[in-house]
Amino acid sequence: MLVDSPTLNGLGAMDPPRRVVIIGAGIVGTNLADELVTRGWTDVTVIEQGPLDMPGGSTSHAPGLVFQTNPSKTMTQFARYTVDKFLALEQDGQTCFNQVGGLELATTPERLQELKRKHGYASSWGIEAHLISAKECAKIYPILNTDMVLGGLHIPSDGLALAARAVQLLIARTSKAGVRYLGNTPVTGIERADGHVTGVKTSDRVVPADIIVSCAGFWGVEVGAMVGLPIPLLPLAHQYVKTTAVPARAGQNALPNGASLPILRYQDQDLYYREHGDQYGIGYYGHKPMPVVASSLPLQSEQVTEHNMPSRLEFTREDFEPAWKLSKELLPALEQTEIADGFNGVFSFTPDGGPIVGQSPTVEGFYVAEAVWVTHSAGVARAVAELLTTGHSQIDLAECELSRFEEVQTAPAYVNETSQQNFVEVYDILHPLQPKESPRNLRVTPFHSRQRELGAFFLENGAWERPQWFEANTDLIKDLPAEWKPVERDAWSARYYSPTAAVEAWKTRTAVAMYDMTPLRRLEVSGPGAVDLLQRLSTGDVSKKPGAVTYTLLLDEHGGVRSDVTVARLEDELFQVGVNGPIDTVYFTQEARKQRQQCPNRWVQVRDITGGTCCVGLWGPLARDVITAVSTDDFSNKGLRYFRAKRARIAGIPVTAMRLSYVGELGWEIYTTADNGQRLWDVLWKAGQPHGVVAAGRSAFNALRLEKGYRAWGSDITTEHDPYEAGLGFAIKAGKQGYVGQAALEGRSQETATRRMRCLTINDGRSVVLGKEPVFVDGQPVGYVTSAAFGYTIGKPICYAWLPSKVGEGDAVEVEYFGQRIPATVAAEPLYDPQSSRVRGS
Ligand SMILES: Cc1cc2nc3c(=O)[nH]c(=O)nc-3n(C[C@H](O)[C@H](O)[C@H](O)COP(=O)(O)OP(=O)(O)OC[C@H]3O[C@@H](n4cnc5c(N)ncnc54)[C@H](O)[C@@H]3O)c2cc1C
Repeated sequence: MLVDSPTLNGLGAMDPPRRVVIIGAGIVGTNLADELVTRGWTDVTVIEQGPLDMPGGSTSHAPGLVFQTNPSKTMTQFARYTVDKFLALEQDGQTCFNQVGGLELATTPERLQELKRKHGYASSWGIEAHLISAKECAKIYPILNTDMVLGGLHIPSDGLALAARAVQLLIARTSKAGVRYLGNTPVTGIERADGHVTGVKTSDRVVPADIIVSCAGFWGVEVGAMVGLPIPLLPLAHQYVKTTAVPARAGQNALPNGASLPILRYQDQDLYYREHGDQYGIGYYGHKPMPVVASSLPLQSEQVTEHNMPSRLEFTREDFEPAWKLSKELLPALEQTEIADGFNGVFSFTPDGGPIVGQSPTVEGFYVAEAVWVTHSAGVARAVAELLTTGHSQIDLAECELSRFEEVQTAPAYVNETSQQNFVEVYDILHPLQPKESPRNLRVTPFHSRQRELGAFFLENGAWERPQWFEANTDLIKDLPAEWKPVERDAWSARYYSPTAAVEAWKTRTAVAMYDMTPLRRLEVSGPGAVDLLQRLSTGDVSKKPGAVTYTLLLDEHGGVRSDVTVARLEDELFQVGVNGPIDTVYFTQEARKQRQQCPNRWVQVRDITGGTCCVGLWGPLARDVITAVSTDDFSNKGLRYFRAKRARIAGIPVTAMRLSYVGELGWEIYTTADNGQRLWDVLWKAGQPHGVVAAGRSAFNALRLEKGYRAWGSDITTEHDPYEAGLGFAIKAGKQGYVGQAALEGRSQETATRRMRCLTINDGRSVVLGKEPVFVDGQPVGYVTSAAFGYTIGKPICYAWLPSKVGEGDAVEVEYFGQRIPATVAAEPLYDPQSSRVRGS
């Protein structure tokens, strides 16, 4: 039976406005206050430790360059909104955005290629961008030494945010709307009761609050500690200087801080530039990382000035020497100048470079919005305001979620090392598959030593070591039938790739392969309220008899797909749920807690069993020959049907077997406890030898799942998509009522969807793309690729892409890759075994 309201005690649009306290009056905090009052929430207090006219955080000295284009769609959308908002934020005829455009330079062939990829991102995310020659660069940037330049990327809508001014205008505007500002008031603690925030403590009072949002910038760690919440960010100093007046630019900019030349990036040398009137501003990331402990910085006082603030550390001139020399080479006009002023300014870095946004998993009502650049500030603030007022951000937040990190990734040493690495790499050319070099081997599965023996090439994800392919299979390339031979790849798509993946795909389709599925997170959901919880949160019917496995979706209140999960009912009150990551764990845990509080007789417990268990995916037409050699349990088609689970023994090892397959072949996900893992691997491996078993990695796996049209949450689908658009309408149980998101889906169907996830095949049969490339119809960018791979079984590259609904099967499209348009065709899906006879078997 479903409980009365799908969202127990959640924040819905119908809830009355709450008392909100925002900590920090930087660009994020003030934007958030503004976004909240715009939505009718006026009981808002902003508490700032510094003086309000110049709080002294990172915003107070930010030069405000806004380069919008980012490999992340979310971040690009945040930036675009920030530009639009700051353009509209004006006083006395002056807005808070100087739209001078942005110019990124290539001085190496590798960077020129990178700019082509970036041009692709811009087209995918709807930003106008132009790849231009060195000569064209000189036209829009006359003082450039074009002898050094190979080309550029020009984005006319980029420019300069006047961040400190925007803060002041937002304070004035929101004060008028009723927001209270308390300046010179450090927050010293957070009051709580029953796991919920109740107020914010300062030296002389407690400000009552239902919701607290920490927008404390690089002080986030200290504020998080007030509620026992580790915030994975590291404050680092970054050098910025202003030159004396540049004679060649004299009189070009009327305002002292004005600019008319585009903002400029010279990423090959970690440099960026803007004008400040006649002077030049130079930012530099090429120096050594300089970590800072925020609590060691002097607390702010009334003496905060432009040159004296805690976020502004003394300039270390020797660290800037290379930058100064390089800058004079690129911009010879700077030869006529000196460094007039310089400082080491502090702001936040994180392990993966993304911001940190969301609610504490353990303290209800405590939110954070930190490690946010000026570039993304208004966009992030809007998303948080939407989250608070409606429970849903229109832009997907998975890449920013506070809870996205695995527990081991929030350890101070991990945050320290990876955030510094992130600083070092901030302007580097990074391949989408490129793993961290350090720290590694943090989480390994029980099969790890066997995988090493087989020459696994490991990539890292969620701190797990995951085999991409196995060198032991390379010898078999010579045995590949002609139709399975992999195509030659270009240098970019050949990185972190081996043709050995073709062998692993071939063996999976024609014999049998073992996949390590351990890192896929799984939860145990148990108790008398387990069915209620899972029914309430998912679109499927999970109340079937024990032994049933259901593929189902978790939606948000607006019908967006927040995850796709498999729910196996093992006993009446015991489920194993395969989820996508820590964000799902937090969601289930929080909802279970609310259910326990509100319906004590239908309590439910959620336990993450990932680390204590492991999983082998044994798949292929010969998988049954392998398993029956080592088990007396009934693994026949009747004994364990497709999408059924049962407990069994394999060579005496207790396992849970689920007849599922993400690669589209007969077989099982076989789970056991971690202590039994290595023996399970060994037993299956030995039994598989007569049948030609291979170990197979993620590279083959990704290709096989795309041939079967299985979507991956995160890359293919996010909260921005509903199930019908995503081609997942089948996962909604017809007639089911009362689950989260159901009301929002009323009236929607595949037919009403204006965009669709489509399968494309590349016409030339050999051009492999990697994802995020724009898709063109009749020369216009209309969508973008989400996942891509070479489909070994079908002998063609495959892409999945978001496209307008009117672009349908058989239509011709083009995918832009490195500036080239590659013809492709919208195909009927799935490309392999559309009847699913292989997985259903006989
Ligand atoms: C040299 C330099 C150059 C940069 N250049 C750019 C750029 O070109 N483009 C770009 O997009 N970004 C740039 N950045 C980054 C950008 O400045 C920051 O990411 C952004 O300003 C952060 O805004 P915020 O509101 O989160 O933090 P802040 O501006 O630091 O605001 C946080 C506020 O919280 C207050 N606070 C903290 N703790 C407490 C407490 N306990 N009680 C009360 N108040 C508290 C602080 O006093 C502070 O005012 C640059 C940063 C530096 C250092």
